[in-house]
Amino acid sequence: MIAVSPPTKKQRRASHSLRQPASITAFQKWLTANGAEVLVTTNPYEVVRFRGDAGVSIVYRNDGARPHKMTGQAGDAWAAFCQGRNMRFTQAVQIQAKYEPVVRTLIDRDGGACFYCGSPFCEALPPTREHLLSRTHGGPDHIANQALACGPCNRRAGHMSLAEKIRLRDQLRQEDRHG
Ligand SMILES: [Zn+2]
Repeated sequence: MIAVSPPTKKQRRASHSLRQPASITAFQKWLTANGAEVLVTTNPYEVVRFRGDAGVSIVYRNDGARPHKMTGQAGDAWAAFCQGRNMRFTQAVQIQAKYEPVVRTLIDRDGGACFYCGSPFCEALPPTREHLLSRTHGGPDHIANQALACGPCNRRAGHMSLAEKIRLRDQLRQEDRHG
């Protein structure tokens, strides 16, 4: 088996200017080949976002001094990829099957994790629909105005304005990134 080498220091430095270094593209191909679903990244700190059995996992951009920060299965996946091993991902389709169509559509669009805290949905933490601009503030029922949140975050966001919700999300994600 051919081992795929992790990015060199030079390549990692280059990743600051290049959005898709070769090793990242190879990693994404490896993820797809192993059954994970590569998702579109949602902010500049993310290098790779994918969905596997444990919901959404993310590789964050490194700052040159530290290795990439990994969440969920990303660390295991990156290690397996670097060692030339395979890893079998089964997508969380059984999670989706029982939810109403609009929830499934939102999971397809955003992945199966809370819009605010990023926790993957599961039996104990089912998705709830969240209107970003709340209906009491005149927000439309259209799917573009909706996201999925876990129950605790949905209650916490309550009647916040859209700007306050974005701040809450940034704050929760920041805690996750540095925690
Ligand atoms: Zn949450």
